[in-house]
Parts: sequence; C-alpha cells; structure tokens
Amino acid sequence: METLGDARESRPLYRGRFAPSPTGPLHLGSLATAVASYLDTRQHQGQWLVRIEDLDQPREVPQATEQILETLSVHGLESDEPILYQSQRADIYQSALTQLIEANWVFDCCCSRKSLKHHQQIHPAHCTASLMPNQPTAKRMRIPAHTTIAFDDRLQGHYAQPLDEVVGPFVLQRKDGIFAYQLAVVVDDAAQGITHVVRGVDIIDSTPRQLWLQQCLGFHMPHYLHLPLVCNDQNQKLSKQNHAVAVNNQTPIENLKHVFHLLGITLPELSINEGLQPAELLSIATTLWSPNKLPQDRYVGNFV
Ligand code: GLU
Repeated sequence: METLGDARESRPLYRGRFAPSPTGPLHLGSLATAVASYLDTRQHQGQWLVRIEDLDQPREVPQATEQILETLSVHGLESDEPILYQSQRADIYQSALTQLIEANWVFDCCCSRKSLKHHQQIHPAHCTASLMPNQPTAKRMRIPAHTTIAFDDRLQGHYAQPLDEVVGPFVLQRKDGIFAYQLAVVVDDAAQGITHVVRGVDIIDSTPRQLWLQQCLGFHMPHYLHLPLVCNDQNQKLSKQNHAVAVNNQTPIENLKHVFHLLGITLPELSINEGLQPAELLSIATTLWSPNKLPQDRYVGNFV
C-alpha cells in the first residue's frame, strides 16, 4: 500500500501533469493547458501524467471524465502512467490530514459561510464558535501571524502572498467529509513525484496555500508555470459558466493548430504538415515550445 513516506522519495526526472476536474468537457482554454504541460514535459524528456480531480462528486457532471479522456486521446495526449482518480484516494488524504492534526496544525470549525460574511470569508486565527458534541466540523489549517509565502513562477515572476491576511486558516476537509482540493493536490503532486506544474494563472492564488502545506508535510516544492487565461471577447475566462464551447473531437488537427497559435508556436509551412497525426504535430511543436513566447496575463478573442 502507498504511504506518505513513498511520496517523499526523490525522483530526479521531470514529471509533469494535467489534472482536470470533471465538471464539464474540455474547452479550448483547458486543452491549451493540457498541451502546454505536455510540450513542456516532452521538451525536458519527462513523463506526463493525467490525474482526474473528481473529489467533489456532487459537482461532477456525468460522462465528463470519459469526455475529457476521449478529447485528450484524440489530440495525441496520452498519460505515461495509469490515470489517477482522486475519488479513490481518501485513505492517503486522511493520512496526510492525520499527520497535520498530530503536529497541531489543524483545528475543528463549525462556522458557516454566512457566519464568515463579516470577515470577508477569511476565518479568524482561532474558531470561537462553540461545538456541540457529535456536530460535524470542517478541518482548517492553521496559519501563524505574518506568514508570507513567496515563490518564483517561471512565467509570472516573483509572487508573494501574506497568507494569514489574504486567505486565513483554510479548509482541508469539509463538514461533509470531502477533502479539499488544496490538500488533495499537494498530496497527489508529491505522491506522483511531480517536479513541474503547468496550469492556468487563475489558480496562482492557491499556490501559496499549497506551498504552505508542502512545508508542513515535508514535501518537495515543484516548479510552477502559471499560463495566461484564454478569455472570450467579453474578457471572461472560458469556462462552463460562460458557456465555453466543448472542444470538437472531430477536428483535432484544427484544434491543435489553434492551441499552438495561442501558445506562440508557428509550425513550419503548415501546408507540409497536412496528413500528420496529432502525436506528430505535438512532437514538432515540442521543439518550438518556449514559455518566453507567452503573454503573462490573458488572451482575448472570439474562441469558439
Ligand atoms: N483540477 C483543477 C482544475 O480543473 C486544476 C488543478 C491543478 O492543476 O492544480 O481547474
């Protein structure tokens, strides 16, 4: 059985990952994230892993996992190892939580979102609400005063966040028992030996929470590259809420060319590429990939 100890073994290779939540099919923005992490991995002769972040089963959309995996597959994006499903890993998240509880990093909390309204949803350092016996509680991570977490992002540069002021003690496990994304992602990145994380800049404000958990659990810190967002022509991030169109699996070559264009990659003489399969296009694009060609913040356009 896998233990947290295995997670701390050092694996020197480059190991990258794409970790979608199955809340809907992939759209062009999420396909661009998958491709960027794949190209960065391949350029470093690394291994690329797919992890399905299906922790929050009430929010899951039926068939989304199958659709995502199908979209990856038709675009030549195959995981180098068996796909990891977070829904099957409660035991390992529980052992990380137990380790944090034993080190006195965790407190029980029964506050509701409503009760935190007057604190801008930032929980105070201690929970003063009185707990009833057997009342379900959330588990929150302590953050000592003046905890500023900083890191150097490969694209965004230096990023620092006063964690106690901006975030406060954050949830590791919800009252309904569901483990929080922040805990699961840290445990899984460590367990899978991920050395490089490439993902959207919309998650960058979560990264300091993840670095804090890595420190408290004794894990290595991966390198991070937070990609610009792909936005619609109203400057909104492509997302299910904004009715972003699902990637059309019938047109993988067109989709890949569109994604390469977003990533600043111009394939030589597009005409000579006709007839090439997605995996072949990806291998040409690998040689041309460079984070220096990306804008920092966002792409805005009519991306359908
Ligand atoms: N599961 C997250 C999402 O689909 C991504 C998490 C990550 O890359 O760290 O937005």
